[in-house]
Amino acid sequence: MQIGCHKRDPLTLLLCDDHSVDDQDKVSINVWSIHMFKSNAPAFDNRSTVQETQPSTRILVIGAGYAGLLFTMRLAGKVASQNVHLTLVNESDTFTERPRLHQFATNQEVQWRSLPQMLSRKNIQFIQGRVIGLDPIQRKIMLEEQQYTHQLEYDYLVYALGSETDRKTVPGVAQYAYTLAARGPLSAAALRETLPSIEARGGQVVVAGGGATGIETAAEVASAYPHIKVRLVTREPLALFLGKSVASSIRSSLQLLGVEIIDQTSVTAVRAQSVVTDQGGKLACDLCLWTGGFVAPSLAREAGLAVNERNQIVVDPFLRSISHPEIYAIGDAAHPRENPGVPMVRMSAVTATIMGAHGADCLSATLRGKTPRPLSFAYIGQGIALGRHNAIGFNNYPDDKPIPPYFTGWLGYLIREGFVRYLAIATQRPGIFVWIGKRRYERAQSRQQAMEQKKQMQPHQA
Ligand SMILES: Cc1cc2nc3c(=O)[nH]c(=O)nc-3n(C[C@H](O)[C@H](O)[C@H](O)COP(=O)(O)OP(=O)(O)OC[C@H]3O[C@@H](n4cnc5c(N)ncnc54)[C@H](O)[C@@H]3O)c2cc1C
Repeated sequence: MQIGCHKRDPLTLLLCDDHSVDDQDKVSINVWSIHMFKSNAPAFDNRSTVQETQPSTRILVIGAGYAGLLFTMRLAGKVASQNVHLTLVNESDTFTERPRLHQFATNQEVQWRSLPQMLSRKNIQFIQGRVIGLDPIQRKIMLEEQQYTHQLEYDYLVYALGSETDRKTVPGVAQYAYTLAARGPLSAAALRETLPSIEARGGQVVVAGGGATGIETAAEVASAYPHIKVRLVTREPLALFLGKSVASSIRSSLQLLGVEIIDQTSVTAVRAQSVVTDQGGKLACDLCLWTGGFVAPSLAREAGLAVNERNQIVVDPFLRSISHPEIYAIGDAAHPRENPGVPMVRMSAVTATIMGAHGADCLSATLRGKTPRPLSFAYIGQGIALGRHNAIGFNNYPDDKPIPPYFTGWLGYLIREGFVRYLAIATQRPGIFVWIGKRRYERAQSRQQAMEQKKQMQPHQA
């Protein structure tokens, strides 16, 4: 048994079994970290005057995507004068811009910004590691850091682990299909290596899923690799969720790129060199790229938190778990129980950024003993990439439905690119990030109450 200091945190005491110390302890190298500061109940006071004696409030953010990174940067600015210990955990040490992963997969240059560098000017501890478990009773997480497993305790946990493609529902997806995960086998990084050889032999790719990600991916592959035969298979009529005009524009752009659209068709199984459809057919392909169905990681469900069918943590308007209020959830991993003023809360970088900023405002208000405001917002625009230097961009205010004029070609591309850049910059300069629709929650609640009252009146009237 050896006692030392954690390499990144002098406040962390390590007790480690190490075979170099005692041969009898050779079973495995296991490190358990125990924080020297005591567990601390949620604090509401301004601690700047009692820093010497009071333990810090430990805020642990897991996941450094749009939501987690913006939350951390914004909160760091707000609690700078308070006795708060802020830690951000992420499995990679770079910020992944997921809306660029289809570009990365098709060999475009994508910037991977260093998280430690971004955080260096703030008083934030960064730990690169994979969260493998969550114990809400003991208020700690289990973390795999290189070959070590250790634990981190918290007073407040901020769960921002994003989402991933659901590989479990359709047979063969887990074994054979590629997804746009950033790294690992069958990922965007693996596609980047594989697609050039499929291009060289004039092979075939099936993109399964006709949501925005599937459309963007099919267009990007066809645009970057003109000798690859791309088929886009989707259950619904293509892009009809965006209305007839946008759907028709997207269809024309994809057809111009040579993408074959097979809509109103579901993929029921994926095999090594083909996909099977519910129309009884089999489509041969060199690879299938699966973009359908995003779900949040299962950690929260396994830990007993209240989650929905997509593993998203169900949160109140202040982004606290409805079952464990000391746990905040933001971004793709969160599902607001109450309507924040939009017809549907979409998993998107825009939503994640708004939730990251709002979550930081809520927690900072709570730490100062103030009442936070409820989550309230509106979507004001969307862009869907349609290959290199082409996209369709439109206004979708107030009801998240596209409204003309629609901007296509270069202009559409500039709009989409502008959105993605703005969101990435906002994660580093959270002060510039603003959103609209801050009174929509109240209006949505009033509408809901009116509807419920009307429903209650109806049986009496009958
Ligand atoms: C190809 C593609 C195109 C897209 N285009 C758009 C678009 O144009 N506009 C738009 O608004 N949205 C778009 N999206 C969706 C958008 O990227 C996501 O909704 C957004 O990234 C969600 O942000 P987040 O912070 O919740 O999660 P993420 O960005 O997924 O970040 C989660 C972070 O947590 C880390 N993490 C996960 N599990 C663990 C673990 N166990 N331990 C440690 N770290 C972990 C991940 O590495 C990651 O850094 C697109 C997505 C894809 C895949």
